[in-house]
Amino acid sequence: MKIAIPKERRPHERRVAVVPDTVKRFAQLGADVSVETGAGENAAILDYAYAEAGATVHATRAETFAGADIILKVQRPRTTTDGGADGLADYPDGVILVALHNPIGDPIGVEHYAAKNIVGFAMEFLPRISRAQSMDVLSSQANLAGYKAVVDGAAQYGRAIPMMMTAAGRINPAKVFVMGAGVAGLQAIATARRIGAVVSATDVRVASKEEVESLGASFVMVEPDVDETGETEGGYAKEMSEGYKRRQVELVAKHIADQDIVITTALIPGRPAPVLITDEMIALMRAGTVIVDLAVEQGGNVTQSKGGKIVTTENGVIVMGHYNLPSRLAADASSLYARNLFNFVELMIDKKTKLLAIDWEDEIIAGSCLTRDGKIVHPALLPQDQSGDEIQSETPNDFGEDIKIRSEAAEQTAAQTETPDPDQDKPI
Ligand code: NAD
Repeated sequence: MKIAIPKERRPHERRVAVVPDTVKRFAQLGADVSVETGAGENAAILDYAYAEAGATVHATRAETFAGADIILKVQRPRTTTDGGADGLADYPDGVILVALHNPIGDPIGVEHYAAKNIVGFAMEFLPRISRAQSMDVLSSQANLAGYKAVVDGAAQYGRAIPMMMTAAGRINPAKVFVMGAGVAGLQAIATARRIGAVVSATDVRVASKEEVESLGASFVMVEPDVDETGETEGGYAKEMSEGYKRRQVELVAKHIADQDIVITTALIPGRPAPVLITDEMIALMRAGTVIVDLAVEQGGNVTQSKGGKIVTTENGVIVMGHYNLPSRLAADASSLYARNLFNFVELMIDKKTKLLAIDWEDEIIAGSCLTRDGKIVHPALLPQDQSGDEIQSETPNDFGEDIKIRSEAAEQTAAQTETPDPDQDKPI
């Protein structure tokens, strides 16, 4: 069995899908691992480290892929929407491809896998059941993103974070407000607390109040509609009623005017990110306040955030819209992502024969498989009238209805000065 790992080529992507530790683990499962030269260099893993772990390092992607049974990637290959299906030219017919595919944000491309008989697995579609926790890339990457958002925000903030008593006077602790208390938000709360900030947070899911408070932050609670928990059966946020949104705007507008750093992480699966911070709210904020918008790639939670940019508004508020935050911690993000992928691939391998033995009925396999036998099989990607005929996951599908909706970039308004983010446009 051969497992191949290319160098990632998309802009802003510094991660890699295998690390020396997982090369050794794959070898113990009987697999040969091929790595394209330079695949790990942006994550501080040089070719020699892969070679020492037992991988073969190849000079080109075509050589790396030759004879591969499984290809592991961070982001899906390029297809017609962004440069032609040539992106798949080196992929062996019938190969298993495991990656982040963004199948909801941009569903175009999956049909090319089917045409090439590629067996595509999307790590975002993994059911969030306890058996799959060790494979949950959304959680591992969101955790790092939440941490990095606070570190980035604190670095941009022109004041200290913790309270300091000095002979020259007292410095008050910074107030950090986290909007969206999922995996990234909870890590942002914990990080901001660790560096001495006074932290508050909000979320539409009523259940998140207890988690927020257990981390030592106060919960800014919008009065929910009667009998509304704010979440789907799968535990994700719902689109809230117009009345709720109005109450949220009023409450947040009051609270936000007095904050120093605001981290926004709010997402609703399959929909554009909800707009939580409006121009009017920004106008109420003090000069020097920093907003970090983690949802910028899904349209943004902040009207004035711009992807890949640090924007200073007319009244001096700094709005940070870094792309791909986990990639800004590429070494740790790769290490966790690679381990998630190893745990997933291990499911497909028979430990005795050391050969591929995929149980297509397994809910983790069925829930994440996009294409198989030359067809698109994932229910969320099929036209509604076909979705009953194909592989069905037992897991409640939070995405199905909204597959046609693509993230639209939020209207970008009124940015007076823009500082290019120095890390964003480096060629990878
Ligand atoms: P996410 O990335 O989809 O969204 C981030 C957060 O934004 C969520 O907490 C969401 O409720 C919140 N949000 C959405 N709209 C909002 C709005 N208008 N205002 C304020 N907040 C808003 O979420 P996630 O981090 O993937 O977590 C979603 C849920 O899944 C959580 O309950 C989490 O604990 C759970 N989870 C379960 C597992 C598991 O293995 N069982 C693993 C990870 C996460």
